Amino acid sequence: MTQNINNMPQYRPQSGFDVLQIPILGRILRHRYGRLSMQSILTAIAVALIIDGFVGPQSAARNLATVAPWVHYRGIVVIVLLLAGNLFCMGCPFTVPRTLAKRFAVKGRRFPKVLRNKWIAIASLFILFFLYEYLDLWASPLLTAWVIIVYFVASFVMELVFTESAFCKYVCPLGSFNFVYSTVSPTQIAVKSPDICATCVGKECVNGSYSAQPTIRLDTIPIVGTDQTQDVEVKHSPQGTLGCGTELFAPQIRTNMDCSMCLDCVRACPHENVSLFARMPGRELSKPDAWSRRWDMSILVIALAFMGVSNAFGMVPPYYELQESLAIEYGITSEFVVLLLIFGFMNIILPIGAAIGAAYLGRLFTGMTNRDSLRDTVAAFAPAFVPLGFGIWFAHYAFHFLIGPGLIVPVIQEFLGQTGDWQTWSFTLPTDLIGIIQLVVLVGGFLWSMRLANNTALRLYRRGGLLGLMPWAFVLLMLMLASWQIFTLPMEMRGTLELFG
Ligand code: SF4
Ligand code: SF4
Repeated sequence: MTQNINNMPQYRPQSGFDVLQIPILGRILRHRYGRLSMQSILTAIAVALIIDGFVGPQSAARNLATVAPWVHYRGIVVIVLLLAGNLFCMGCPFTVPRTLAKRFAVKGRRFPKVLRNKWIAIASLFILFFLYEYLDLWASPLLTAWVIIVYFVASFVMELVFTESAFCKYVCPLGSFNFVYSTVSPTQIAVKSPDICATCVGKECVNGSYSAQPTIRLDTIPIVGTDQTQDVEVKHSPQGTLGCGTELFAPQIRTNMDCSMCLDCVRACPHENVSLFARMPGRELSKPDAWSRRWDMSILVIALAFMGVSNAFGMVPPYYELQESLAIEYGITSEFVVLLLIFGFMNIILPIGAAIGAAYLGRLFTGMTNRDSLRDTVAAFAPAFVPLGFGIWFAHYAFHFLIGPGLIVPVIQEFLGQTGDWQTWSFTLPTDLIGIIQLVVLVGGFLWSMRLANNTALRLYRRGGLLGLMPWAFVLLMLMLASWQIFTLPMEMRGTLELFG
């Protein structure tokens, strides 16, 4: 793959602080086997989950297969996304067989063009949340173990068949969640000097430095800070690195979307020109040109915020009342149909309807119906749904995690054949404190979203900004109030049910 970058805009995080220059940590991350070490640990954990899921106690609160992914993973992942970045994708165990598959695949084909978008990812998220409720995955160690196996197989097969990392980029629901919310993270991949990229011949960051037969090449690149150049020897060999699996080109990265933080680009660049930089959290959300204006990208971001509400709604009493009234008034007794109706409405129809409705009204109120298309208007406001969406998920996942953060210890003890010390590890954070954390992230996310929406409205409509903002502000406010209402209700403590319920 060859790309001409000379006429393309360059992007660089503002702070310039290079995370990979931190002693020891930077070396570990940059090391050839740095990622593999993280993946090996998480793969070992995934295998332990599968074993416990099959042979351990079929009790949600006492089995690693249910406690680790449905309580601890989800709680920790939102905290890590907020404080560091997409570290789960960096250490993702599902990409270990993927890497193996890449070595075996002689020459894969491209993922079908018509599917190179986020529609499958939206469907995957919908299916995962649907099955989570319908099959009570949180309560079944056995089914959760099967879900993990399906993940490994799907990742392996897709990597065997296609050249790019199609599973990560287009299918994986966990990756899609992490991609969207890593846009609030304080780190981002970027290049140190765009001038070096302009003269780089192989563009190894995206093409890779892996070669079955060793090859050597000379690149004439600028010496940064001077007018001079130097010749640099570039070697490719079987020990080389694959290029960016999700096909991001380092000098043009504007966003964390689609970046799995694998650092392959860092290792593949022969000029040591790529690194992981600290930045203002959520920087790209206020950059109008950071994201694609495609419908699928906008709907993914907006629908994910609504899915945060429906996911929490499925655990509070009004959900069961609604289920009952659908049965009594309309005779719909099948749980499958009821869930399909509720989730189909809340996760697909409502977000799409709200986005198109708000865009239509905003253009109508400001008299701009002919200037921007509905698609462009929705795309411009879509980033505003990230902070609030993240706040909703954070408030929900943090609740389940903080209610019993130590409970993973006795579960591990029992998995290892010891007696679980439940008494010591059954502590919980004060519920008032958890409530305050939920309120802070929810209101904080809402205010951040409002600020982004306001800036977008002013940019699009100038003096008519307030009128253009109103429909979007209404949608964001309703989302926030609905979430808050849900979080004030008694919520099922899934995975810790037997202990606290
Ligand atoms: S990041 Fe490295 S490999 Fe990629 S274009 Fe720039 S110099 Fe070349
Ligand atoms: S190779 Fe691609 S996915 Fe991996 S860190 Fe670099 S840009 Fe991100």
